[in-house]
Amino acid sequence: MSAQRDQLALLPKWVVPVVPEGEVLLDTAVIVQGERIVDIIPASEVVNRYPNATTKPLSTHALIPGLVNAHGHSPMVLMRGLADDLPLMEWLTKHIWPTEQAFAGEDFVRAGSALAAVEMLTGGTTCFNDNYFFPNITAEVVKASGMRAVLGLPVMNVPTIWAEDEAGYIEKGLQVLEESEPNSRIGWAWAPHAPYTVTDASFERLGALTEEFDFKLHLHLLETADEIEQSLAEHGKHPIDRLVDLGLYNDRLIAAHMTQLTDDQVAQTAEAGVHILHCPAANMKLASGFCRVDDLDQAGANIAIGTDGAASNNRLDMFAEMRLASLIAKGFSLNPVAAPATRSLSMATIQGAKALGLDDGIGSIEVGKQADLVAVDLDVPGTTPVHHVISHLVYVVSRSQVSDVWVAGQACVSDRRVVGLDQESVVSEAIEWGLKMHKKQ
Ligand SMILES: [Zn+2]
Repeated sequence: MSAQRDQLALLPKWVVPVVPEGEVLLDTAVIVQGERIVDIIPASEVVNRYPNATTKPLSTHALIPGLVNAHGHSPMVLMRGLADDLPLMEWLTKHIWPTEQAFAGEDFVRAGSALAAVEMLTGGTTCFNDNYFFPNITAEVVKASGMRAVLGLPVMNVPTIWAEDEAGYIEKGLQVLEESEPNSRIGWAWAPHAPYTVTDASFERLGALTEEFDFKLHLHLLETADEIEQSLAEHGKHPIDRLVDLGLYNDRLIAAHMTQLTDDQVAQTAEAGVHILHCPAANMKLASGFCRVDDLDQAGANIAIGTDGAASNNRLDMFAEMRLASLIAKGFSLNPVAAPATRSLSMATIQGAKALGLDDGIGSIEVGKQADLVAVDLDVPGTTPVHHVISHLVYVVSRSQVSDVWVAGQACVSDRRVVGLDQESVVSEAIEWGLKMHKKQ
């Protein structure tokens, strides 16, 4: 009987398992043992079947799978609000890259990753897909926070403190992999920045490395129309045709943004199994264009949702992003049934997990899966009364309504505060960085 002492019986008002899509369970308990969900049973049966389980009443809460933030650059939270309301290239080359050149070392990445982890975890995000310098440092923070991440090994032809040239970036990535200790909550991806900052030779090498390591290839693709013009001028081809010729347009590719798709490219992308990392807020803020979510969805493509970095969003808030994903899909397609709430919730959970190759373990509340769970308290005026809980989760809920978060059965947020990191020191360190960056300007 001793093993039963590790059992936790969660008793929410609503369970939203996400698989099957749209299902809502009432009077249902979710039983967690160790890292996994071991049973989903009527709440009334807990006393008899799991008499020694610790019970957690969540009488005004919805229990949902942990949200998966499918695209971001976590340390950029320290640059939040530093340069707003500018075109992408001016923003990137005149503000973001010079600031990174001046500051983005190990300590910056440690402080930024910790702040991002606190922001994401307390907002219900349990897993994120990142691309930034010093991913080895972010890995340390992820470990301490208890959350899950797929960390990109960045590659580009822009010299930074991390590496001088593309070969140097790849070398650094290989070194990180060699020195990293295996951790069940941390995965890696090769992360070439974008078609306009990576040469064919490096793409070819990364194609071979993704096969060798069985990784995903995490790339910004078709963020703006300019990128297409540039590719036609430099390579004589559209970026998608270039990736096809390089053998990279396949289901290993996880492509952030994907605006500007033609009808043929929508079909081609779905057919190829390329995963789309849709970033609705960042695309609007940088006026990049629209991702054809409704068309891609109907063509059968897998679409995940990401916040992008906090310098172009400016929040790492997956509840806000789900709402935008539904609203923009409708507004852009002029189709009111595009991206219904149930689909946006899937995009932010199971479809994100699928893009990262993690859907066997996470992304839904199912027996045998990892217990990555989020309790959302609906007992506030804005989410009262509840006619349809998934509608509220997508269109109304604020991230501040997240009360508890578990990752692999471990409590990572308890009563709205992170457990694994010292929230006060993380915040005060971020304030210090803000002051330092201000002085330099
Ligand atoms: Zn990005």
